[in-house]
Amino acid sequence: MADWDAIVFIAIVLVSSVICFCGHWPIFEGTPIQSLNYCCTGGCFDLLEKFVGLVCGARGRHVVSSVEHYCCERPNPILQLFYFTILGGAYFAFVGTSFQYIPGPYVSVVHRYLGTVSVVVGAVLFLLTSCSDPGLITSTNVSDYLTMYPYDGILYEEKTCSTCNLARPPRSKHCSICGRCVARFDHHCGWTNTCIGENNLRYFMAFLFWHCALCLYGTFVIAAIVAGEVKKRNLVHLLTFYYGVEPSLQKLSPYVFQWVLAFYSQQLLLLLFLGILSLLLTGFFGYHLYLVLTNITTNETYKWESYKRWKQHVSSSEGPKVTSVDGSASSSEQVSSPRLVGGYLRGAEFLGIAVGFSFLLCG
Ligand SMILES: [Zn+2]
Ligand SMILES: [Zn+2]
Repeated sequence: MADWDAIVFIAIVLVSSVICFCGHWPIFEGTPIQSLNYCCTGGCFDLLEKFVGLVCGARGRHVVSSVEHYCCERPNPILQLFYFTILGGAYFAFVGTSFQYIPGPYVSVVHRYLGTVSVVVGAVLFLLTSCSDPGLITSTNVSDYLTMYPYDGILYEEKTCSTCNLARPPRSKHCSICGRCVARFDHHCGWTNTCIGENNLRYFMAFLFWHCALCLYGTFVIAAIVAGEVKKRNLVHLLTFYYGVEPSLQKLSPYVFQWVLAFYSQQLLLLLFLGILSLLLTGFFGYHLYLVLTNITTNETYKWESYKRWKQHVSSSEGPKVTSVDGSASSSEQVSSPRLVGGYLRGAEFLGIAVGFSFLLCG
């Protein structure tokens, strides 16, 4: 691996972050950043469909539309396989490049075993979330779910799911991807290829928490390995005694960084990858922890946003145009906020994929 891979990786991540989270800002209007933001938040298939339609005609457009349908609107294992590729890739990169430095001045031998066990536990929690029942509503359990939560008369009213042909309990939702109603529906998770609902939210939270901890743990172990190598090779002494560098953090840091980049670029790449994933996962876990503590689901945050917009429109002169609060309304203004939240979530998901891809590419 070339020394520049860590720099290329961080550059890709930075550009991807700007595209995903800031691309819709007015300052980027009419720029390639805005176009790329549109692509990564769901517009890429529209553009691809138009392009293939122009080149190959209706048949090509139909193929792209079928691929989009399979990737985005049907249960599929694409992101599950991608998860295992990233987990396996990161673990074997760590074993191949850094096990030789354990034990070191700041890392005891126990981390060889603790690291492996932590990765296995992470994979088990992922499988547990993926394979457990999210709370599928069937004719045998629907009566139990109907009494679990009250109808609030605003977001939830008594009605029957036209697809499942079953009464729809309060806080449940019919998942259009899975094709089934799920109790206390939170969201459909593409990574675990299942809905997150009443029965598997605890596994999902454990999975998120564990992966935050795993990434932070990996970041600290690698940082400790690199710091140990700096100590073992007396780098600070060499720089100050032989090269006359002033013994201050400010003066020494650039030289130490250059040395690490030259001789430990693989560790640096892993460090950056795990550090960035830690930040992303901590933000995601914090958001879901807030939802759990306030007893609200992701789906309900969308619904409440829609409801607030609907109320605003009703009280304004344009109000009568809007007739629904369930997200199916035609007014673009009414659903703009959920779209924005959805855009950020899609952006975060794309960024996760971009970080994983660029890590595999650079490593
Ligand atoms: Zn249903
Ligand atoms: Zn689902």
